[in-house]
Amino acid sequence: MSILIVNNSRWLNFWLDALKESRPDLKVHVYPYDGPPEEIEFAISWNHPLGAFKQFPNLRCIASTGAGVDHILRDPELPAGVQLTRVVDEDLTNDMATFTTTLVLSHVRGLFSYKVAEATQRWEPKTYQRPKDVKVGVMGVGVLGTETGRQLKALGFNVQGWAKSTKNIESIPVFAGDAGLADFLATSNILICLLPLTKETANILNKTTLSKLPKGAYVINVARGEHLVDADLLEMIDSEHIAGASLDVFRTEPLPEEHPFWAHPKISITPHIASITNPASAVRQILANYDRLKQQKPLLNLVSLTKGY
Ligand code: NDP
Repeated sequence: MSILIVNNSRWLNFWLDALKESRPDLKVHVYPYDGPPEEIEFAISWNHPLGAFKQFPNLRCIASTGAGVDHILRDPELPAGVQLTRVVDEDLTNDMATFTTTLVLSHVRGLFSYKVAEATQRWEPKTYQRPKDVKVGVMGVGVLGTETGRQLKALGFNVQGWAKSTKNIESIPVFAGDAGLADFLATSNILICLLPLTKETANILNKTTLSKLPKGAYVINVARGEHLVDADLLEMIDSEHIAGASLDVFRTEPLPEEHPFWAHPKISITPHIASITNPASAVRQILANYDRLKQQKPLLNLVSLTKGY
């Protein structure tokens, strides 16, 4: 049994190094692979070319090198019976929470709009909000959303969450399912999207949902570009229902240079860097799963193929 890395990103060599340092004896191959396909039972992957896995008849596990698995599940030719795992890692979780709280604070203290004013030397102090007067709604209170909510709470913000199922998170009220969505939106001054991308959540940030937010609400999307209907956000900002947005993820990445988001004074853009897996730390859970697969033990951080996350 050996490991195949299918990763077209700049992180490929970091993963190779992390695997080799942790297990010098392990056989690690990099896709495209022209050795015997039946030898590959375990793959680690990020944004693989669609169809890449169908050539491996004995593939039993694909480990996503990130928290999301939408990039794997969009492949219609995954081998039958393959298990999917994802990364759940303290660094990844804390990095997401500190990034989103930074965006929330920057918006509340007006830093984004002062940056725009600075470009034309405008000295225009504005009234600001205090955390206790702001309610932040976190869409998706799983691993990342819960920690984000906890850190915002510690800064004095009011925080509420929205999830698929009902849940009890200390001092964070959680609305559940379609039935809870309208009330959750109506009371969220800042909306943070931390949902996984599934058939149910694609396009969820659209004109109908955004118009349910209070006037002047701010939108933060750090989940996936496909959650947001771009034209609807622009329309809602230009009609002044939404005050602005911070976006880290986009339908097409890199964001094409002609996209209207780039030049919009009320939209802040970051290049999908909210939280990036640290291979040196996450390699431990990947290797633990490699061992578990060999020992026929249940895998860690398993993804539900029916739920899609
Ligand atoms: P989790 O699986 O731990 O949490 C997902 C949450 O979303 C759960 O609370 C779940 O509800 C909720 N949810 C799922 N579907 C629905 C639905 N249809 N309606 C309402 N709630 C729903 O995921 P993580 O917190 O680990 O990660 C979230 C996403 O963040 C990832 O999938 C990835 O796309 C993105 N991400 C972005 C990064 C970046 O750098 N921009 C970095 C890392 C991740 P329930 O609890 O009831 O199941």
